Amino acid sequence: MIESLRTRPVHKVPARVRFDGRVLLLTEDPALLRRQLAGEDLPFDPAAPVGSPTHPKLRDNISTDEITPAYICYYFDDTLGQFPYLGLKAGEEFPLVRGSVRAGGFVASVAGTRRGKGSSREASPYAEMHAGIRIVIAESIERIYRENCQNLGVFTSTDFSLIQRIRNGEEIELEELTRGEGGISRGIIEYGGLFNYNVARLQGKVEVPVVTTTKRPMTIAEKIFARHWVLDAAKERVGIPAVKPGDQGFVRTDIRFSHEYVTPMAAIFFEELVGKNEPVNDPASVFFFRDHLTFLSQVMRPEHVEMGLLDVANQLEAKQRIFAGEKGIKLYGELNRQNLHGALSATGSEAICHSKILEAHAEPGQIIIGSDSHTPHAGAVGCIAFGVGTTAIFNSWITKDVRVEVPPTFRVTLEGTKPRNVTAKDFMLEILRHPYIKGGAAIGQIIEYAGDAVASLSVDERATMTNMAAEVGAFTGIIAPDEKTVEYLVAQRGMSPAAARALCEGLYSDAGATYVKEIEIDAAQIRPMIALPGDPGNGIYIDDLPSDVKIDIAYAGSCTAGKKDDMDMYAKVFREALDRGEKVADGVRCYIQCGSQEVFAYCREKGYDAVFAAVGATFIEPSCGACINAGPGISRTRDEVTISAINRNFPGRSGPGQLYLASPYTVAASAIAGRIVAWDADARQLAHA
Ligand code: SF4
Repeated sequence: MIESLRTRPVHKVPARVRFDGRVLLLTEDPALLRRQLAGEDLPFDPAAPVGSPTHPKLRDNISTDEITPAYICYYFDDTLGQFPYLGLKAGEEFPLVRGSVRAGGFVASVAGTRRGKGSSREASPYAEMHAGIRIVIAESIERIYRENCQNLGVFTSTDFSLIQRIRNGEEIELEELTRGEGGISRGIIEYGGLFNYNVARLQGKVEVPVVTTTKRPMTIAEKIFARHWVLDAAKERVGIPAVKPGDQGFVRTDIRFSHEYVTPMAAIFFEELVGKNEPVNDPASVFFFRDHLTFLSQVMRPEHVEMGLLDVANQLEAKQRIFAGEKGIKLYGELNRQNLHGALSATGSEAICHSKILEAHAEPGQIIIGSDSHTPHAGAVGCIAFGVGTTAIFNSWITKDVRVEVPPTFRVTLEGTKPRNVTAKDFMLEILRHPYIKGGAAIGQIIEYAGDAVASLSVDERATMTNMAAEVGAFTGIIAPDEKTVEYLVAQRGMSPAAARALCEGLYSDAGATYVKEIEIDAAQIRPMIALPGDPGNGIYIDDLPSDVKIDIAYAGSCTAGKKDDMDMYAKVFREALDRGEKVADGVRCYIQCGSQEVFAYCREKGYDAVFAAVGATFIEPSCGACINAGPGISRTRDEVTISAINRNFPGRSGPGQLYLASPYTVAASAIAGRIVAWDADARQLAHA
């Protein structure tokens, strides 16, 4: 624990709160919004009919993208306070402009249903807070957005009667603002945010609800949670006999990591709230990554460059690098840096965060948190790895722990021998189209993969499955460690087999463990798949495609598909093509991008770089790149068609074009054919020809 926090005075917010300022009604009518920005306070009577002069229709479904559009998130400090609601659509207009909320003196912001839906970005409530908003009121508020508000100390309420009381200058009882909240959330609100709550907790001033679950058959995930459960933060006591779904508390983490989109804001929080010169708790278990925006300068739209956004985005890299240096934290950074008109030139990353965490750090039985939804990647070696927000990452630098509610687990068992041209990606596209997952029932649950067909996969392939737990909407994904895991740890980390086996001890689900759902799939029946554009759940077998789909781009990379095994698959298909005298089809741009320098070096050792060059593919340095619409391989028009080995194909994910997801084999085979085809391992020829 950071010593200065042991004695830091920490207080609850007063029992009565007053909000001095105006109330902003986020209305559907742009004229009404403009009148408020010009200084008028609109009447609001919640009892009056919606749409009447005293009850204007409020905007529903305001997403975090509307509160802070993605390009605004290149800012990471209180500058964000100039930008809330820049993407807010009222009618066909965007009435809010830079600085308008702050200039209006607003303290409360009111909306309709599902406020804060979409991305979990904490930049949204942070921007609102720095524009002066202290309370958000809405008919309903999305869970993650509400938690982010609470973590930052912004109040939330669904009580519209507060509007008039705020305008009257009345004091509001704090109890009214915590009503209905569970123990930990209530404490966080009472202490004005997660940081103050944690300081109080570390000083032994708050009581976290005690878990009293008695010994029971547990899943592997529940066992790992129980081993890491924080009993007493003040006395560093960790571990309880058992947990069950729904238990709430804090768990001790083994690894905490973040990338340049998140680290800078978390660093600002640390400097402002803990102290610029204070140390991070156990920096050796913290890792930073410069991976998302390494190639941004090559693809940013000229109008955004003119707005200065490239310079702003480059500040993310600088802030992370400087903070890492000051705190002694390992940064996997850019390969090298040249000063190009004051901006950094992009030459690739040392590694994508998930790739390196699995290659070099994750161990069976650990708890790992990362600032990214694909953190479950590391679950391939039998650990609990999950994504968290900025405030949770920042707090973990102090406490080494993170708040959890134990999720229920569901199990997907794949038995049988899969066809040779079917991969873990095909398994996932099959799983993602299952009604249980497509219908949203799996959201927030843990997905445990089991069965012969999973056991036969390499750790790299298993990682494709745990990585895509994010697409499932799961809390995380996990595969129990086995002899393949031991072999991986021995080969990859240089561990002795005995040491590797010791890490795996007891890491299996007990007979009688409870699953909320069991799904069984016959791996032998799966054929090579693609996900049609728009959603990873749009999977179909390639041989069920009604007509040929010509492609313009084949992208083979990302954390999901930039591992050594993925490179083996691309190279195998391309070597066969070269043997037949074929190359990447005319008019197709094909990119191969590794997940790390280690994979890049592996490709060189194996001679894959020569194969890629000979076949006509462009082999580029590691980075998230096209996967996050920020590097070579993105589409430029709506008509362009891409076949990609990445993990998600939401609209706009990798440019405006049509993005199909597929396995590494399929991406490589399609690059050669110029249209979407499966690779046929047995016949050594292209199927669907
Ligand atoms: S490669 Fe894509 S999915 Fe993986 S961390 Fe980067 S942006 Fe996220």
